[in-house]
This record gives sequence, C-alpha cells and structure tokens, in this order.
Amino acid sequence: MRLLVVEDEPEMALALQAALRRHDMVADHADGIATALEMILAGTYDAIILDRGLPDGDGLCLIPKIRQHKSSIPVIVLTARGRLAERVAGLDGGADDYLAKPFAFEELLARLRAVMRRPDHLSPMAVKLGRLALDLDHREASVEGMRFDLPRRELLVLEALMRRAGRMVPREILMESVFGMSDEVQSNTLDSHISRLRRKLCDIDAGVTINGVRGVGYMLMEQA
Ligand code: CA
Repeated sequence: MRLLVVEDEPEMALALQAALRRHDMVADHADGIATALEMILAGTYDAIILDRGLPDGDGLCLIPKIRQHKSSIPVIVLTARGRLAERVAGLDGGADDYLAKPFAFEELLARLRAVMRRPDHLSPMAVKLGRLALDLDHREASVEGMRFDLPRRELLVLEALMRRAGRMVPREILMESVFGMSDEVQSNTLDSHISRLRRKLCDIDAGVTINGVRGVGYMLMEQA
C-alpha cells in the first residue's frame, strides 16, 4: 500500500512515515497543498493522510481537487483542528475520515484499514491465487492457511503483482508500489526482490509463478 503524508511539520511527517513503513507501507511526503496535488496527479496512491494547517492554505482545499481527478482515493484528515465544527467541516468537505491530534498511531492505522475496506475504494483486502493468499489488512501472506514471513519490499512486490494477477505489470508500476520517492533505488533492485520472492514462492510450493519480460515487467500466474 502506498500513502501520501501531507504534513508541514517535519518531525510529525518523519514520525508518520517511519511508523507507516514499520507497517509495510510505502509513504511519501508533501509539505504543502501544491506539492501534494502534483504528487497525487503524477503518482498512484492508495490513501492520503492530510493535515489542515499547511503553509499554502487549509488542507481541506485539496480534497475537491483530488476528487476532480482521482475520485476514489481515501483521504484521512489528521489535524490539530479537532473541534466539533471543524470535524464536521472536514467530513462535509469530502474527507473519508477525520482524526484530531494528538492521536494514537494504532487508531490511525485502524481508520486507514476501515477506509480501505469501503467498497468504492477498489482495493480488496484479501487476494488469492493458487494456494497463495494475501491478507492486505494484516499484511500477511499464507499458503493453505500457513503464514509465512516476507521482508517488507517483497511483500509490497507480491501485493502489487497479486492485485493484478494474470496481467503483465509494468516495471514502473512495480517500482511505484515498492519504493518511495526518497528511496535511492538502483535499476536492478526490483529484479533482486523478484528473484528472492520467486525462490521463496517456489520453496513453499505456493502454486504460482512469476514470469518476467526483460525490461518490461512481471506477471504473477497460477501454476499450470
Ligand atoms: Ca500543520
């Protein structure tokens, strides 16, 4: 899952990004409305965490702009403006959820899971292929009910492939799903993650294969 954190306080932004990463998500950061909009239009985000008091205006102004272009991205407003009238304004303004600072990170995570579960947000929370299942709610992969651990990047690669199983997933989409904008990535890093993932899926007899076309992308398929 790839998120955009729109937050102008550097410490809060760093803490949020670090915490999201610990939960196997990719988190980019924008420090204002204009930057955020550029990143949202250029990228593929599964959800936006949005502060209100931003240097170039009230974060709520971003929501109609997002809806114009990418209507279904869930937006959670995370702000110090927590009075009733402010919360109502946020939800009426199109936010999917509204959480006041100070907040508990566990609650933010739970709310993220909740907005991602809504039917209009496309992302199914569990996907299956062959004997392999991926629970996107709990970030767990399993084969026939037996859970196995994957490092964060491999889990992200697997998620991106499973969501598009049976289709060739272009390298650019995979790179976007796995690496944040601030990550330094070498061109063969993705291929190394794929190789390791492929070997593990084979070792645990997951019943799926990853086929690649050099320089183009990868496709996850059920084994014949
Ligand atoms: Ca702020």
